[in-house]
Amino acid sequence: MDSSQNKLVIKKIGMILSGKLEQPILDGDCIICIDGKIAAIGYEKDLNTDDPDQIIDANGVTISPGLIDSHIHPVVGDYTPRQQQLHWIDSTLNGGVTTLISAGEVHMPGRPKDIVGLKAMAIAAQRWYENFRPSGVKVLAGAPVIEHGMVEEDFKELSNAGVKLLGEIGLGSVKDGPTAKKMVQWARKYGIQSTIHTGGPSIPGSGLIDKDIVLEADTDVIGHINGGHSALPDDQIVCLCESCQRSLEIVHNGNERAAILTLNTARELNQLDRIILGTDGPAGSGVQPLGILRMIALLSSFGNVPAEVAFCFGTGNTSRNRELDVGLMEVGYCADFVFMDQAQHSPGNSLLESVAQGNLPGVGMTIIDGIVRSQRSRNTPPAMRLPQILS
Ligand SMILES: [Zn+2]
Repeated sequence: MDSSQNKLVIKKIGMILSGKLEQPILDGDCIICIDGKIAAIGYEKDLNTDDPDQIIDANGVTISPGLIDSHIHPVVGDYTPRQQQLHWIDSTLNGGVTTLISAGEVHMPGRPKDIVGLKAMAIAAQRWYENFRPSGVKVLAGAPVIEHGMVEEDFKELSNAGVKLLGEIGLGSVKDGPTAKKMVQWARKYGIQSTIHTGGPSIPGSGLIDKDIVLEADTDVIGHINGGHSALPDDQIVCLCESCQRSLEIVHNGNERAAILTLNTARELNQLDRIILGTDGPAGSGVQPLGILRMIALLSSFGNVPAEVAFCFGTGNTSRNRELDVGLMEVGYCADFVFMDQAQHSPGNSLLESVAQGNLPGVGMTIIDGIVRSQRSRNTPPAMRLPQILS
């Protein structure tokens, strides 16, 4: 390490969540970060903690990779016209979320639907969120909604311009399996990930996407498999889980019963690694700053999975399914963290027990790229203990 590098030392950690299903809790009480990346994880006595630029005393709380919301609809900056709200992304950071992934900037008033217009908006949205991160939150955006008439060259052009995501298929004019399949293959050929609106129409004007269309389109992510809001019938959800290997995205703005059905089916298939979480916010049911924490508590308590496993659904699973450099507690990954402790006066004898009983944790701090972005959450119930910046 040379003196120009920035070193962050986090010590006195009570528990380290990894985001990895195969080992959700890591040994150690200390994390070293260099220049915004994780450099070492272990016990303070074994690590080189010399010459830090900043020291954080975790005060015995739990640290997890920052939460990832796999399904949002941003428009511009920290404003959403969908529910006329300012600072919804900052509010979401206060819910422990450090990365947001766009499923299409569909709430843009006057959104262009002609091909040159939709490409231009996608490229611009990718740029404006790359250039400006609200409260430091990473917003992966610029997700065009495909329309009839697009040709392979359009996908090549989008990819060359930096577009890496498609918006939810079904929110544009393409709602049939054969066309969706052809365009998803073009997108994949040029390194663009795809997702689809699964279930009944979201709002007047959108349409039904059933299991046959989802399977034929073969997108990388089965977007809101539990509906947004209306879920498919149970047999179709089970069929989607059984008939392909694509990511199973469960959202807050969907049907909770269908969420549990998806989880139980994935568990029976021994494929919990396919479960990823989103909110679908801002949506008809509003902005959900605690949406990912609420999904973790819901799936842990009603779906009967240990809380440390449920945290993987909102961190490492999304990272691995979407090939991100965030969401895993591993050397070389981005130093994006959320510090949590059991909420004051919540039942259970630990943070994990409390979450497994359906309660939210208290967020005490978030860090993105090795920089403290928020301290005690204004949205979660208060944590029993709080981390402290020592220098
Ligand atoms: Zn949708």
